[in-house]
Amino acid sequence: MYDVLVAGAGMAGCVAARAAAEKGKRVLLVEKRPQIGGNCYDCYDSYGVLIHPYGPHIFHTDREEVREFLSRFTGWKDFRHKVVARTGEGLIPVPFNLNTLHQVFGPEAERMERKLTEIFGEGSKVSILTLMKQDDPDLQRIGEYVYQNIYLKYTMKQWGKKPEELDPSVTSRVPVRIARDDGYFTNRYQGLPADGFTPMFQNMVQHPLITVWVNTAMEDVAEVRENRIWLQGEPFEGQVIFTGALDEFFGCRYGRLPYRTLEFEFLHQDVPDYQGHSVVNYTVSEKFTRITEFKHLTGQECPGTTICREYPKDYKGTEGEIPYYVIENEENRRLYSRYLQEAQKIQGVHVLGRLAEYKYYDMDAIAERALQLIRQLIS
Ligand code: UDP
Repeated sequence: MYDVLVAGAGMAGCVAARAAAEKGKRVLLVEKRPQIGGNCYDCYDSYGVLIHPYGPHIFHTDREEVREFLSRFTGWKDFRHKVVARTGEGLIPVPFNLNTLHQVFGPEAERMERKLTEIFGEGSKVSILTLMKQDDPDLQRIGEYVYQNIYLKYTMKQWGKKPEELDPSVTSRVPVRIARDDGYFTNRYQGLPADGFTPMFQNMVQHPLITVWVNTAMEDVAEVRENRIWLQGEPFEGQVIFTGALDEFFGCRYGRLPYRTLEFEFLHQDVPDYQGHSVVNYTVSEKFTRITEFKHLTGQECPGTTICREYPKDYKGTEGEIPYYVIENEENRRLYSRYLQEAQKIQGVHVLGRLAEYKYYDMDAIAERALQLIRQLIS
């Protein structure tokens, strides 16, 4: 019946399913949630506001192939994402950049700017940990300010760890920028699907060779026996693309892989504007990390507004909890590689995406990986 079985209909699974179908393969895409789109899924709340129930998602990329691929299923609303942090100095632009420098340090900023530009070069990106290691007292002051006011408390809330205890790849996602640019991302293409993420995914899986079963977990239809996948009781001869959490797939037999989860608090307000910004990071106070106000993200015009506060916590694997963030470090990668070895023993199984590869991927990187994997599997 099917040539390819894809488990999970998020970015990884939907792109892989479509790419495989376009190569003439019959694809079964199973998704345990009642809807497709993974954590990018968006919908209208009971007040008619378009929200992202699994946290704010903004598409940004320099990858032409990915942009082109996705553009076949959606138009785009260009949107240059900006984030501000609420600190003692009021709202300041994040990532910390030369505008932030002037706002925070006033008349001293000019001298500091000269030093930053001389040492790192105009337009460069510097990680907070690099900045803090500088000998110059001005640069140390900047480093200390940024560390204390932007990174330390936010990172403690987000990860339960200090910035220096994390894999450097995490905090370097939001570097200090030696430029007068308040944009959160620097990618060429930035925006949201014109009608939302969900219609984009629906269009993507709309293909005569793709069958989608929602409310269907991988284990509802398939099992592993004799190092192969059995689909509904029959040995499956095709390729299997698995996008879920690998540890859970193997019953956590070597122990749980650590993840962070989020609790979202959605609130509708009968005011046209709550915070004037799409995202405000709370970097020195509060238990939540950030507040998203969706209408500023989506550009939707509506009388009221819906906001969302994010409370990160450890993922325990209890019913309904979602593993949003992998925690990349040596120890966790070692544990992950044991699960990967198990997966590699199973005929035709390939892992793809944030969960299955245990990697802090952005959306566009996942889409690229999915396209590459299908090219590699189906030449
Ligand atoms: N970060 C921070 N303060 C900020 C923004 C980011 O400390 O105001 C750190 C924090 O550790 C965070 C990481 O940088 O987890 C990556 O941030 P990003 O915005 O990329 O996280 P995401 O949107 O994926 O949650």
